[in-house]
Amino acid sequence: MANIVLFGPPGAGKGTQAVRITESTGLPQVSTGDMLRAAVKNNTPTGIAARKFMDAGQLVPDQIIIDLIEQRINEPDAIDGLMFDGFPRTIPQAVALSKITQVSHVIAIEVPDEKIVERICGRFSCTKCAAVFHDIFNPTKVTGVCDLCGSSEMKRRADDNETTVLQRLAAYHEQTSPLAEWYEQQGILSRIDGDREINQITQDILAALIA
Ligand code: AMP
Repeated sequence: MANIVLFGPPGAGKGTQAVRITESTGLPQVSTGDMLRAAVKNNTPTGIAARKFMDAGQLVPDQIIIDLIEQRINEPDAIDGLMFDGFPRTIPQAVALSKITQVSHVIAIEVPDEKIVERICGRFSCTKCAAVFHDIFNPTKVTGVCDLCGSSEMKRRADDNETTVLQRLAAYHEQTSPLAEWYEQQGILSRIDGDREINQITQDILAALIA
């Protein structure tokens, strides 16, 4: 069982790297943000409970997230491990995860605050394969067509606006960043400079995973 955690501020490139790590390792990507957005879209009780927090750029209460993860981890494709993207985001979430399964690597993608807003405002993703692009920093080769799977259905997130981003960044610093030290003390944290070319970052992440 090799569970990986992708850790970092909003806009650090976790989603972009997650797609690439899945290609290399075969580990399914589990994004609590994606799961919550699907729940909101389908108007499920979880979606209804989570929506106001997401719209405000605040973290969704821990128990909602832990329930989602407990269900996900029992699905058949989780047998060889999962790659968590955007989870855990608080110490109680990490403690809950440690009681369910073991984490082998935590990859912390580090990007300075001043770069976050410009990285988030302008990003969009493929609805089919989840590849992430950016109007300026990582445009598709053909406008409106996914480089990876060729789909022409792209989407932008409702919370990728400047006001919400600042709140999400504040939540990251207050509630999530203390987790880096928590995992560092366990000797499983690798810090990766995320303010570089995408391929270089992927290379360093894959090297950290086999170290
Ligand atoms: P993300 O797609 O990871 O940026 O998440 C989008 C939003 O979903 C966040 O701003 C939170 O409101 C919520 N969210 C996603 N994952 C978590 C989590 N692990 N804990 C709490 N809230 C979360």
